[in-house]
Amino acid sequence: MKRLKKVGYIILGVIVLGLLIPQNMQMPVQGATSSDYNKNSYWAYPWGRSITHKGVDIFAKKGTKIIPATSGLVLYSGNINVGGNIIVILSSKWRLNYYAHLESLDIETLNWASKNEVIGTVGDSGNAKGKPPHLHYSIMTPIPHLWKIDDSPQGWRKMFYVNPIPLIE
Ligand SMILES: [Zn+2]
Repeated sequence: MKRLKKVGYIILGVIVLGLLIPQNMQMPVQGATSSDYNKNSYWAYPWGRSITHKGVDIFAKKGTKIIPATSGLVLYSGNINVGGNIIVILSSKWRLNYYAHLESLDIETLNWASKNEVIGTVGDSGNAKGKPPHLHYSIMTPIPHLWKIDDSPQGWRKMFYVNPIPLIE
C-alpha cells in the first residue's frame, strides 16, 4: 500500500511537471509569416466533412521545411486517410500537436523532436490532394478546457482543442 502511494505521488509529480514546463512555441513552417495563413481559420464553419476547422492551414511551396512548433515526443509518424502523411507530437501540458498533409516525413515514431529539427516537408497528401500545398497544424488537449466551450457549431468540442494561431504568431 505504501509503495502504491509512492507510485501515485510520482505519477502526480510527472503530470504537474508536464503542466508547468513552458511551451515557447514557434511558426512550424520555415519562412512562413502571418500572411501565409488565415487568422480566422480556427473553428471556421462550415468546413466540409470536418464541419468546423480545428486548426490552422499554413500555405507554402511543396517541400518547404517543417520544424516542430514546440519540442516533444513523436507518438506517430505515418500515413492515414484524411490527414495523409502525418506526425503527432506529445509536448508539455500533455498537448498533442498534429501536423498533416506532409510531403515527406523526416522523423520516426518514438523519436524526440527538438525545436530546430526538420521533421518533414509541406505537401498536399491525404484529402488535400489537388489543393494548394499547406501544413494543417492543430493542437489537442486530452485535459479538457471546459471554459472554452461556447455555442458555436461543435462548440462543446472546443474543450479538447487549443487555438494554435496566437501561439505561432
Ligand atoms: Zn486544415
